[in-house]
Amino acid sequence: MTDRNDELFDRAREVIPGGVNSPVRAYGSVGGTPRFLASARGATVTDAAGREFVDLVASWGPALLGHAHPEIVEVVQAAAARGLSFGAPTGAEVELASLIAERVAVGDAKPIEKVRLVSTGTEATMTAIRLARGVTGRDLLIKFAGHYHGHSDGLLAAAGSGVATLALPGSAGVPAPIAAQTLVLPYNDLDAVREAFALHGDRIAAVIVEAAAANMGVVAPLPGYNAALADIAHDNGALLIIDEVLTGFRVHPAGYWGLQAEAGEAFTPDLFTFGKVVGGGMPLAALGGRADVMDALAPLGPVYQAGTLSGNPLSVAAGIATLRLATPEVYARVDAAAAVVADALSSALTAEGVVHAVPRAGSLFGVAFLPDAPHDYATALTQDAWRYPPFFHAMLDAGVSLPPSVYEAWFLTAAHDEAALDRIVSALPAAARAAASA
Ligand code: PMP
Repeated sequence: MTDRNDELFDRAREVIPGGVNSPVRAYGSVGGTPRFLASARGATVTDAAGREFVDLVASWGPALLGHAHPEIVEVVQAAAARGLSFGAPTGAEVELASLIAERVAVGDAKPIEKVRLVSTGTEATMTAIRLARGVTGRDLLIKFAGHYHGHSDGLLAAAGSGVATLALPGSAGVPAPIAAQTLVLPYNDLDAVREAFALHGDRIAAVIVEAAAANMGVVAPLPGYNAALADIAHDNGALLIIDEVLTGFRVHPAGYWGLQAEAGEAFTPDLFTFGKVVGGGMPLAALGGRADVMDALAPLGPVYQAGTLSGNPLSVAAGIATLRLATPEVYARVDAAAAVVADALSSALTAEGVVHAVPRAGSLFGVAFLPDAPHDYATALTQDAWRYPPFFHAMLDAGVSLPPSVYEAWFLTAAHDEAALDRIVSALPAAARAAASA
């Protein structure tokens, strides 16, 4: 039976490559017609055919407080009435930059002195890398297999997210000399990092790492790993860039760095990147870190970066409102909701005898069809990924919208109330049966 989603998908494919403006939206690995969404509120999304789903995508992370939170919508409307874009600095940008710097603090540790606002996570990581190269005068970059840092040229080698979902080695269109500037190492393997520095130490500008990997499924760093990366980089005159685009302000008021610092694992990254939650659902991202590094950016320093829509007033208003509303109680609610769903997911799969793990990093979790949570990309890729499409579609049929790839995290929000959680929990047994018989 075709419905409005099918009609839209047919038309979309005539005018938009693959019918989507970002690849994983295409249901490429799960099959079927993507839901074309018409609206979203709280924990639910409504598709073009008028069907409502409890949502576990949360716009891929930003909707920490739930969709269309009334106070955020109100400040965005008020900002729109004052002007959509100025191309000049605003007081609100100063407020948001200060909020970001103030929040990323635990005890005496306050690693962010200066912040620059950009529009996407891709821009934030791209700029952080240029900055690291500019201040060190070195070219090479270390990234980890399965980590996704956006789609700039040098970061697509062995990347997670859609690159993993589509089983691509990287991307066409990246010149070999540019790809050669990125050293891709296995995640959670400090010996590999020490070896790379032993071989190329004086040419490595930076190590970039997701604070906790969540684009190859969820793969948390082993205890001490992030702190050791900071030590190794600093011992060799390189910078550590912690990519918190996905984890920042989502797993803890001070991001995954804050979660680790609070647990006694303190370390000092030179640069942080943020996106998603920091813009509350509007296009906004940021990089921040040590003043002496950040001040190498133009107009003070020689590293160029710019943006017509950087610090857009609507996005900044949404970001400020989101950070102000994201109180410790919000994180406690999201943590509790995540625990309910993660436990129910595991119980349902266990009841059907499906080999699985539910890897977690703070409130982020996902499913991996493996006996144990994977610790790196090579292991994540060995799972029975073919069990996910029938599982996904059984959940969708029951009115629960999951990320359309096994290599993505599930996102809870503070708007997932008991009714929303009940709908998810009661949908899981049938989905587990579908996964078992796949
Ligand atoms: N870094 C990480 C860790 C991400 O998860 C993402 C997006 N999923 C990005 C960078 C890129 O952000 P954007 O899609 O806003 O360009």
